[in-house]
Amino acid sequence: MTSTSPAPAATNTDLPVVGHWIGGARVESASGNTAPVYDPALGAMTKRVALANQDEIDRAIAAASAAFPAWSDLSLTKRQQIMFAFREILNRDKAELAEIITAEHGKVLSDALGEISRGQEVVELATSIPQLLKGEFSDQVSTGIDVYSIRQPLGVVGIISPFNFPAMVPLWFLPIAIAAGNTVVLKPSEKDPSAAIWLAEKFQEAGLPDGVFNVLNGDKFAVDGLLTDPAVASISFVGSTPIAKYVYETATAHGKRVQALGGAKNHMLVLPDADLDLVADNAINAGFGSAGERCMAVSVVVAVDSIADELIAKIVDRAGKLVTGDGRRGADMGPLVTEQHRDKVASYIEVAEQDGAVVVVDGRTVRPDGDENGFWLGPTLIDRVPTTSRVYADEIFGPVLSVVRVESYDEGLELINASQFGNGTAIFTNDGGAARRFQREVQVGMIGINVPIPVPVAYYSFGGWKNSLFGDTKAYGQDGVSFFTRQKAITSRWLDPASHGGINLGFPSNN
Ligand code: NAD
Repeated sequence: MTSTSPAPAATNTDLPVVGHWIGGARVESASGNTAPVYDPALGAMTKRVALANQDEIDRAIAAASAAFPAWSDLSLTKRQQIMFAFREILNRDKAELAEIITAEHGKVLSDALGEISRGQEVVELATSIPQLLKGEFSDQVSTGIDVYSIRQPLGVVGIISPFNFPAMVPLWFLPIAIAAGNTVVLKPSEKDPSAAIWLAEKFQEAGLPDGVFNVLNGDKFAVDGLLTDPAVASISFVGSTPIAKYVYETATAHGKRVQALGGAKNHMLVLPDADLDLVADNAINAGFGSAGERCMAVSVVVAVDSIADELIAKIVDRAGKLVTGDGRRGADMGPLVTEQHRDKVASYIEVAEQDGAVVVVDGRTVRPDGDENGFWLGPTLIDRVPTTSRVYADEIFGPVLSVVRVESYDEGLELINASQFGNGTAIFTNDGGAARRFQREVQVGMIGINVPIPVPVAYYSFGGWKNSLFGDTKAYGQDGVSFFTRQKAITSRWLDPASHGGINLGFPSNN
């Protein structure tokens, strides 16, 4: 950390304001309420973002409501063609989007491109919407009677996204929601709002009719507007656990379908027979990639004691070679998203010292390749973290990797299963039997076997267990299709003149 100077206050009226995207056009902030947007590697406020007032919330929802009848009535082929066109535009212009992400989030450009490619996967899945929406058909279930099912869109759907994936998380939901015939109001994070506006412009270029996809910038007020407005049929939320719980409880109380993905604390269990060089590489990648600001980051290495010293030496060696700096200059790891967040993450290193843990690599001493005002914190490795410490229990969401030593597989498993979170986990071992036991016994939604960040591909679904997901349905994949559609079952009889059965008050039965 090289600077503790305060970031400029959000009063600079010369800066551009990121507004909304409503009904197919940019909309300036009418309320005049704004929040600052920083370039984290410069440590400078570079823009402001509009914070929606009630009128703007109403306009966004009204635009989506007005677009719904025609959009949901459009043929699958036409919706599919727009999704194909969007996929081509996204792929063509992804370098531009990556620069926008890096300038507001801080993650290095290669990582921004990585997030875009994982979002693009879901767009590619959505191009197969005619296949995904296919219903079932049963011929002649009773004499002269057929039964079949169809899937229909919900209406206006709300999406609320976090700062850490300003393109990928919206793209976990948008493509399937839209392709299935819904219209959308997206409320991005106020920390990095520009990627969402960029996506809206590119969808328009792809031929999406005005009003199908709207972006409403704002804070809690805008979120509450979406959670409570009767015209919004569903909420897809991604963010921290306390807010996810609040969103789930509020929106379900208002009769909405809700999937609310929350926070995480992901453990990597290392058994003694694992390839320790592979483990060390992956601990570095998964612990410090995106400065640890990933919900699937590894934040705890659970090492069986007999190999812990050797493993830590290998991680320390690799951490020492990482370059922390401006993501536009080829650094390995960028800054944290805001100064406030950087200071909060750094404060956990003090907590670790107070709680008797051993700070092996201290990110506070980092010498960044970047502006001295950037929100820097280098890779940090803390050994012997007591499980009673907040460093172990809290989601820190920064480049702070804890090591907890255990005596056995069973002790490691028990630790992981006791966590309030159940998003992702990984086991590193060369023992197939142990890995198989782990996949069956661990209480976590996404599991990696010698894979550290097991984010499922688009045609599986993404979501954790316990306090990492409120609701029944995960993001994208078949769960995504189910979430954004309602199923109807139809029992049909086309009479021929001879088949009339006459009056019968009995319950319909098959014959
Ligand atoms: P956050 O919870 O602070 O914000 C998420 C969204 O909620 C933002 O759009 C924000 O404007 C809004 N919000 C913030 N405070 C609110 C309030 N009081 N009432 C209503 N809405 C509010 O999360 P963040 O800091 O942007 O993102 C990081 C968090 O997201 C981490 O906890 C991370 O684990 C989690 N995350 C989870 C997943 C997952 O798939 N489970 C994926 C990405 C991020």
